[in-house]
Amino acid sequence: MILSLLDKKARLLSELRDEGIKDKDVLAAIAAIPREDFIPKALRSQAYENAALPINSGQTISQPFVVAFMTAVLGISKKHKVLEVGTGSGYQSVVLAKLCRRLFTIERHLPLLNGATEMFKKLNVFNVTTLFGNGMKGWPEQAPFDRIMVTAASEEIPELLLQQLKVGGIMVIPIGAQGKTQHIIRITRREDEFMEENLMPVKFVPLLPGIVHES
Ligand code: SAH
Repeated sequence: MILSLLDKKARLLSELRDEGIKDKDVLAAIAAIPREDFIPKALRSQAYENAALPINSGQTISQPFVVAFMTAVLGISKKHKVLEVGTGSGYQSVVLAKLCRRLFTIERHLPLLNGATEMFKKLNVFNVTTLFGNGMKGWPEQAPFDRIMVTAASEEIPELLLQQLKVGGIMVIPIGAQGKTQHIIRITRREDEFMEENLMPVKFVPLLPGIVHES
């Protein structure tokens, strides 16, 4: 049986529900966004597999379950100013942008950032501001943020990002070395105390310093 992309999207949404994603706003965002437009054309038929896929510059678009999980555990509202580090394809950015007031997203590969910016325009997503730079440093001019999501794995929690989190704010970030098991960590700021929860094992591309102009 040949399934259409629409059938495959419905199957993916039901898989996500079965895997424990209950947040209706997150599921609605995933239902509304054409993931096939964020990946290389040759992989179009795989757009709604629950799998990470390669994008340009040797990076990956995260697995839909991981996108849904990280978004749900961030607890975003329409009042929030959110920072994303690792724009990549821009898919996770659009999920966040649909749920928050304003999204600031940073990418260190210029060709990826340009591609993502095109997608924001194409999908009429107007509440995203982009920056070509090293997201480990955050975005001091726009800080503090209600929520921060990092979509590349770091061995340590970047101190500068902690400083840019509002009191009461939440950050999710994959922590761990490459080649080892990494974990999604959720950090909640209470004044100058940071509460850490280890939520789930994952595998992410690395959070790296510096910027890259070409793919
Ligand atoms: N959220 C993306 C996932 C992309 S993979 C998506 O939905 O497609 C992680 C991305 O983080 C890659 O594009 C990588 O280039 C970027 N990245 C890694 N280190 C970074 C840094 N220090 N600052 C900004 N982006 C970074």
